[in-house]
Amino acid sequence: MLVLLVVLVVRRRQSDHAFTQALDERGERLALALWATGERYWDYHLPSGALRRLISVQRGDDGGLIEDTLQATALIHPDDLETARQALVACLDDAASRYHAVLRVSDGDAGWCWVRVRGRVIERDRAGAVVRIAGTALNVNATREAERERQIAAEVLRSMSEAVAVVDAEFRFVSVNPAFLRMTGYAESDVIGRTADMLDSDQHDTALQAQIRLQAADEGRWSGELWQRRKDGDEFLAAVELRTVHDAELDTRLHVAVLNDITQHKRTEQELRYLANFDTLTSLPNRALLSERLSRAIIRAHRQDRRVAVLFLDLDRFKDVNDSLGHAAGDRILRAAAVRLQQTVGTQHTVARLGGDEFTVVIEDLAHAHDAERVAREIINAFEAPLVLDDRREITISPSIGISLYPDHAQVPTALLKHADTAMYQAKAAGRRTFMRYDDNMDIAVRQRATLSGALRKVLDRGELRLVFQPRLSLPASRITGVEALLRWYSPEHGDIPPNDFIPLAEESGLILEIGEWVLREACMVLGRWRQHGLDAMTVSVNVSVLQLLRGDLPGVVARVLEDTGIPPHLLELELTESVLMANAEQTATKLQAFRALGVSLAIDDFGTGYSSLAYLKRLPITTLKIDKAFVDELPHDAEDAAITSTVIAMGHSLGLNVVAEGVETAAQMRFLADKGCDEIQGFWIAQPMDALQCLAFIRNWRPESLPRPSAPARVVTLP
Ligand code: C2E
Ligand code: MG
Ligand code: MG
Repeated sequence: MLVLLVVLVVRRRQSDHAFTQALDERGERLALALWATGERYWDYHLPSGALRRLISVQRGDDGGLIEDTLQATALIHPDDLETARQALVACLDDAASRYHAVLRVSDGDAGWCWVRVRGRVIERDRAGAVVRIAGTALNVNATREAERERQIAAEVLRSMSEAVAVVDAEFRFVSVNPAFLRMTGYAESDVIGRTADMLDSDQHDTALQAQIRLQAADEGRWSGELWQRRKDGDEFLAAVELRTVHDAELDTRLHVAVLNDITQHKRTEQELRYLANFDTLTSLPNRALLSERLSRAIIRAHRQDRRVAVLFLDLDRFKDVNDSLGHAAGDRILRAAAVRLQQTVGTQHTVARLGGDEFTVVIEDLAHAHDAERVAREIINAFEAPLVLDDRREITISPSIGISLYPDHAQVPTALLKHADTAMYQAKAAGRRTFMRYDDNMDIAVRQRATLSGALRKVLDRGELRLVFQPRLSLPASRITGVEALLRWYSPEHGDIPPNDFIPLAEESGLILEIGEWVLREACMVLGRWRQHGLDAMTVSVNVSVLQLLRGDLPGVVARVLEDTGIPPHLLELELTESVLMANAEQTATKLQAFRALGVSLAIDDFGTGYSSLAYLKRLPITTLKIDKAFVDELPHDAEDAAITSTVIAMGHSLGLNVVAEGVETAAQMRFLADKGCDEIQGFWIAQPMDALQCLAFIRNWRPESLPRPSAPARVVTLP
């Protein structure tokens, strides 16, 4: 059976007039009460299912009541009949006999409306069975709609991925959504009632909070980024949108804040900015940032009437190191070099990596031009000590540095960099491990160099190269036992060009591979001809560039040349300069084994100029040490050189090596070396380098007694 909501008025039929009057009064009061509360009165008769309603209507100033009776089932929405029935069952079971339900009833033409029905039993029969229930019904359409909206809003808030917090005018948390709790790591009970500054990170000062409050109060909104602290202490960057709303019920202001965690986003943004401005390998500024900083430095210098220096730095023979040790080691060297450089010049100056092994230092606030040179010298000195790589290996590498100055040499960053680069090349040409200050003549030198490299490309085709030979004298045997082949370039356009000038160019262009192979073949062919003249035991030494060793298949080339020319391998010696060998000791050691396997000898040239350690020497499969001319020059008076030379000879012998002294120009030098047990000597005192024919004649005419007298000047044998 059912329920209904409607309103009934109880009417007891009484004939008594006074009673009727009293009843009328009550009716009026009831009408007034119903009108005031908006409720309707209903009275439900269980046995018949009839429902009487009493509805208050407004007539002018007066209130009145309309009454009707209808079947409860006709009034209630079919879908809610069950609800009504259950409410009735509950009422009948209830000790207090209360009726309560929320359901839809017909609202005439307006369709259905939601009503909240409340009532209680007002009459029972003698047996105690309920006969009537009466009560009121209130249209709750509007509140239900509002409630529904609230529920939807609450659900939206709950499911939002953005954190939402509602704070009151004092910024105390009134409510927060689950995303907010997830974001901050707090429980709801931790935050409600506390002020929002509990989340503040130390990264902002308190002034910011005050400013946010002020702006929220004035403009009703604030947006910005705030570092916030989670419960676990971690900090995150939140993008905050704050809106002020007016709570009509409480008549107060509330602020609704929506927070997005943008820490990751920010980090990516920063990374991108970093990538655009910094070199990832060394973490130094890259070319872009360098140009920017240099421009600013120039503007400042212009205002303050001061100088800016640009130091362009390139690591000597880095390419060889990179090729021989591998790129991973190359990267380590670059990182270590970057650190050494920054440490040397100090963090107040910009150190940038332009790529490859090129670095730039910008020095501001220079009062004098020579201050830049002082810094360059400091850098070169700092690189004397080996770089300790992050795999704990040690390597020594020197820089060549070019210097340009603002405003002396150029006014704009690009020109300053270009000039410093030019000066750096000059420093390389001057023998590396040094610095040069730019001057206008350098541009001319650069152009000459360019034309020289152009000309060098044609040397082989034009047959402009030739070899000269310098004899080597065995001191114990007093015999010429070998020669060193030395390269000469005569260019019709540029005249005689010394090897120290064009070999670096040939190395740079890679032409050294072809040229080196030509030298090797030519030297062996000459030796082959000499052998036909009976010089069976004569050896030939050929200088080899490290590039030949590192690129291409030098052992293969040597084997082929030996075979083609029929030279026994033990008569060929390859000379490699010390600095180059030592920079790559580990890698070259294995490569050198290939030559030893062929049976050719290996010499370390210019010994003493590099950084050989005895430990390294032992590991290299070499046969000969050639003491550099620099140590021979001042013999025998210079005590230090005398000590070094004696030590090198003794050390070489202890390692089973043949020791040769280069650049011997006097008899005194020869005697000193002979005393110390040096095996061979080479130098102008015996003979200058000569062409093949001259040299052959020199060797054949050689007699021990033809050694010059002690006082005799250096002599060159010329053939008739
Ligand atoms: P190096 O191998 O140390 O050759 C010795 C240099 O010293 C030669 O200079 C020689 O002429 C010079 N010299 C010899 N005795 C004396 C002396 O008593 N006094 C003086 N003042 N100098 C002396 P050069 O021919 O100008 O060669 C210079 C360097 O060029 C060589 O030094 C070598 O490293 C390189 N070089 C020469 N030929 C070749 C070559 O075919 N291939 C390669 N890769 N390098 C070569
Ligand atoms: Mg040599
Ligand atoms: Mg030498």
